[in-house]
Amino acid sequence: MKTWVYIDHFKGQVVPASWEAVGAGKTLGSVTAIVFGSGVDALAKSAFTYGADEVLLADDPGLADYRPEAYASTLSALAAEQKPDAILFPTTTRSRELAGMTAIDLKTGVMVDVTALELKDGRIIVTRPIYAGKLFTRETCSASPQIVTLRGRAFPRPAQDAGKSGTPTKVAAKTDATTQVEGYTTAEGGVSLIDAGVIVSGGRGVSNNPALTPPGGLDEKQAEIWKAQQGFTLVKDLASELGAAVGASRAAVDAGYVPYAHQVGQTGKVVSPDLYIACGISGAIQHLAGMRTSKMIVAINKDGEAPIFKVARYGVVGDLFQILPALTAALKSKLGK
Ligand SMILES: Cc1cc2nc3c(=O)[nH]c(=O)nc-3n(C[C@H](O)[C@H](O)[C@H](O)COP(=O)(O)OP(=O)(O)OC[C@H]3O[C@@H](n4cnc5c(N)ncnc54)[C@H](O)[C@@H]3O)c2cc1C
Repeated sequence: MKTWVYIDHFKGQVVPASWEAVGAGKTLGSVTAIVFGSGVDALAKSAFTYGADEVLLADDPGLADYRPEAYASTLSALAAEQKPDAILFPTTTRSRELAGMTAIDLKTGVMVDVTALELKDGRIIVTRPIYAGKLFTRETCSASPQIVTLRGRAFPRPAQDAGKSGTPTKVAAKTDATTQVEGYTTAEGGVSLIDAGVIVSGGRGVSNNPALTPPGGLDEKQAEIWKAQQGFTLVKDLASELGAAVGASRAAVDAGYVPYAHQVGQTGKVVSPDLYIACGISGAIQHLAGMRTSKMIVAINKDGEAPIFKVARYGVVGDLFQILPALTAALKSKLGK
């Protein structure tokens, strides 16, 4: 099977799930990595070290910024000419858009956020979670190329072999686009939850430590946020001990405890870490939608009936304000820090 894998990146900084997609592609047959951008030679070289058999490189100043029209028309023109059987993408906000636009150009379909792939009679059959992860569907697409976006961390990342090399094939870019990027601003609290192997998340439960007295002069809302921020310090301390990223429920984000960049769930990030520790999070279906495919879930909640315990491998029923400092201290002594 002739599989293309789109290497997603921001200004040459690759989304690591792209390499997972290369690994997944290799299980289907040969892999051609697709690298678009400006000054992205190094990325093309890396693609070989992760196992790509061939690299198609569109390196053009007109592709310096990701613009969907330019990227989709470059990709669909190439695919129309070279006719790959499948195009895989890592699932990112950019790639969902790019995969969709390319599929429209090529009159084919897209299967998004896939967690498993199999090959049957020369066609890919995918498995993907639906209904907030409560059900898995197996799907295929009868048109070609089959376009698939793969959930980050659902597929193993191949080992990098620095000895592997190759010469990318340069291809033409199509840079016409009605949109142009005027500039970038860094999001407050920018975090990379999608690539994190361990995530410690806090919910509304971190805000109500009765032992804390907020400083005078704060109104009720400010006092709640102050308390929640103290609570999140416990979440952050545990995360830092584990080298983990910090996540949050929407309730915590909406209440202003932490920025949106931390939100996990249906309207936040969808994550699949090796370990997900939920602290003071009830486990509403919209939160589970973002984390239930984590390899191991640990829940800390004072309510033994909280729905989060239904998906947790390990559950601690108790007060997080006592459990988190004890857990962090125990880890500190175990890890010899
Ligand atoms: C369209 C839509 C989209 C949504 N998208 C998302 C989303 O992307 N992500 C998301 O998270 N939610 C989302 N929600 C909101 C979701 O329905 C829940 O309201 C939210 O997840 C609840 O957050 P929580 O668990 O932090 O708060 P709560 O449900 O209030 O739970 C707090 C938990 O903390 C526990 N607790 C309290 N004190 C302590 C303590 N001292 N020690 C231990 N445990 C304690 C409580 O027992 C409780 O279980 C969405 C809702 C809608 C309608």
